[in-house]
Amino acid sequence: MDVIKTERTVTKKGSFDVIVVGGGIAGVSAAVSAARAGVTALLIEKSINLGGLATGGLISWYEPLCDGKGQKMMCGMAEELIRLSCRYGFDNLPTAWDGDGRNKQRNERYSTFYSPGIFSAALDSFVTDSGAQLRFDTLATYPVMNGAHCEGVVVESADGCEFFEGKLVIDATGDASVMHRAGVPTVDGKNYMTYISHWFTHDDAKKLAEDGDICAFRRWLNAGSDMLGNGHPEGMKQVSGTTADEITEYVITGKKRMLERVAELDKNSFDIMMIPTMPQFRTVRRIVGNTEFCAVDGQEFSDSIGACGDFRPSGIGKHYQVPFGALWNNSFPNLLAAGRIISAPAGDGWEVSRVIPVCALTGEAAGKAAALCVKASKTLDKLNAADIEAIRVN
Ligand SMILES: Cc1cc2nc3c(=O)[nH]c(=O)nc-3n(C[C@H](O)[C@H](O)[C@H](O)COP(=O)(O)OP(=O)(O)OC[C@H]3O[C@@H](n4cnc5c(N)ncnc54)[C@H](O)[C@@H]3O)c2cc1C
Repeated sequence: MDVIKTERTVTKKGSFDVIVVGGGIAGVSAAVSAARAGVTALLIEKSINLGGLATGGLISWYEPLCDGKGQKMMCGMAEELIRLSCRYGFDNLPTAWDGDGRNKQRNERYSTFYSPGIFSAALDSFVTDSGAQLRFDTLATYPVMNGAHCEGVVVESADGCEFFEGKLVIDATGDASVMHRAGVPTVDGKNYMTYISHWFTHDDAKKLAEDGDICAFRRWLNAGSDMLGNGHPEGMKQVSGTTADEITEYVITGKKRMLERVAELDKNSFDIMMIPTMPQFRTVRRIVGNTEFCAVDGQEFSDSIGACGDFRPSGIGKHYQVPFGALWNNSFPNLLAAGRIISAPAGDGWEVSRVIPVCALTGEAAGKAAALCVKASKTLDKLNAADIEAIRVN
């Protein structure tokens, strides 16, 4: 391959205690918890909306905060955000979990449907009210490394190429691109074809007029497979989503399959109200941290940041502690991972840790840890047992 060399002047745009890259659920949680802890925080998002997969990826189902046997497992940011997800829009929170029971979609757990557009809009002031600064339409391209120490990130935006200096940098990109480019060891995921849009038909409209259940109106139109691979196109290989070519082919295939699915319908009998604004890969890349989160029921960690349950029917009643060691690699003591990129091997660990409430948990803990390091002039490797206690979420 030919190589060209270019030279560009990069302006230093600002200096922050904590820089968070990626405004999905994990990044929002990290930026807000850092700012609330009293340090300066910048949240950099490449699109113009917050929420990542949970909003632009049209997910719209907040997995449970309970263990499925009536015990609440999560509080903190995970609970604040489930409440925010439906503050201005519909929900189907059960009355047992403080819902008003107006919508009839069946649900027993501490989980809910929400409108992705409304949730995303609500996230803006959730971030800015915390004092964190928000930068939209800004792509973080490369971390600037001084050996194993990250000095900040270079970004590309309408203003050109700029540098933001940071004492602690949190990667919440969903694909670990910051940490990968910094040299942190990472592992690629494998994804079945998924292309989910939101649609409604004449029949849905009639049903809504009859029963008024707005929550049941918007439906998923899945032109790909489910999470177990049922419906994956024959002959198509599973992809990680770590190259532009893979991403391009994946989304073109998804849109084509969506149009094929509706081509046989009366075109005046339905509308597709939203298509995803980001590829719906479940697992792109994750870091190899100090500890792997493997989702072992009852396993205890001395550096636990909190606990979560298991959203899967097979996980009813299971309780998992999440170790802080899954959020960083000790060769890189001022870089933290949050969200679906934490150190968790394929299988139970990655499945459990990638869902919305657990991304909120790891984001919140990362933000608290970063703020604590800044205030105590420490790096991550110098945190002691009392510090871990202070960043624990639940
Ligand atoms: C098909 C599918 C179904 C799912 N179903 C559910 C479900 O029903 N319930 C549930 O709870 N979870 C579900 N999940 C999982 C969950 O939605 C996601 O794993 C979770 O929301 C990920 O959050 P995150 O913040 O870690 O990452 P993301 O949501 O990926 O957010 C990353 C953000 O970073 C931004 N970004 C990336 N790179 C850069 C960069 N270089 N510079 C600036 N910004 C950048 C992106 O634009 C994005 O906003 C599902 C996932 C998929 C794919």
